[in-house]
Amino acid sequence: MKFKVVSRGDKRSNEIEATMKQYLTDFNLEYDREEPDLVISVGGDGTFLEAFHRYIHRLDKTAFIGVHTGHLGFYADWTPDEVEKLIIEIAKTPFQIVEYPLLEVIIRSTTGGSEDRFLALNEAMIKTADGSVVFDVEIKGEHFETFRGDGLCISTPSGSTAYNKALGGGIIHPSIEAIQLTEMASINNRVFRTIGSPLILPKHHTCLLKPTVDRSFLIAIDHFTETYTNVKSIQFRVAEERIRFARFRPFPFWDRVRDSFVGNQKV
Ligand code: NAP
Ligand code: MN
Repeated sequence: MKFKVVSRGDKRSNEIEATMKQYLTDFNLEYDREEPDLVISVGGDGTFLEAFHRYIHRLDKTAFIGVHTGHLGFYADWTPDEVEKLIIEIAKTPFQIVEYPLLEVIIRSTTGGSEDRFLALNEAMIKTADGSVVFDVEIKGEHFETFRGDGLCISTPSGSTAYNKALGGGIIHPSIEAIQLTEMASINNRVFRTIGSPLILPKHHTCLLKPTVDRSFLIAIDHFTETYTNVKSIQFRVAEERIRFARFRPFPFWDRVRDSFVGNQKV
């Protein structure tokens, strides 16, 4: 089996990277930065997002696992103390795979047929640098509302604990194939009216945003933001592709939610 370790780049993460590389090669696993079967991210959830995007072209072949060198992560859920145990588990391959849904984003331009397609592990966000965004929101090809406000966040189930949560969105178990739309400060008055609640769309229900005035937007896909001009429409749905996690021990999603946000206190 071929593996690759991606480090956040700080001293601690680099040390763990070096240890894992050394031990796994001692176990006759092959280090391969181009075509790894397993990518081990060492750092935080941000590092994991980077590792995911680096190997996004081979999601059907590569499995991911994360070690956290800071606080407990949602993707990076192994502690540095467990690294030796993890190495032994990896060396014992084959391993179990757990799959989570991803978000597909298609940006179409007013200037010809060009079309950009992205996959997000956490979310996509549509904002503008100044003022508010205005667009028609279509769901399954039908007009749903005209949104005016700071922007919209469309997240995956595993991304529902990230930016989506800060916007008041619900936490969705990643076994549910869905995407969630949350509003960022919508304007609601006699002229503009939006639903106001987060919406959860099942697989095959497409959401389309069509700009009505301004056609320049900031579009963030996970940790990466870019400006787009001449935007005709932005389309969202549950992607056909999925992320594959290598699973060596149970760590249920709700346990991670509790440990990250509630703690373990009992009175
Ligand atoms: P960052 O500014 O370091 O990330 C903000 C925080 O979100 C970090 O604590 C990060 O964990 C955590 N995070 C990332 N994915 C998560 C998930 N699926 N569930 C729960 N927490 C998660 O930027 P970054 O590390 O490059 O990560 C980018 C992500 O940060 C974006 O996709 C967005 O969801 C999130 N974000 C959230 C807010 C907010 O909650 N107000 C603001 C900006 C960005 P680590 O420290 O382990 O990296
Ligand atoms: Mn981070």
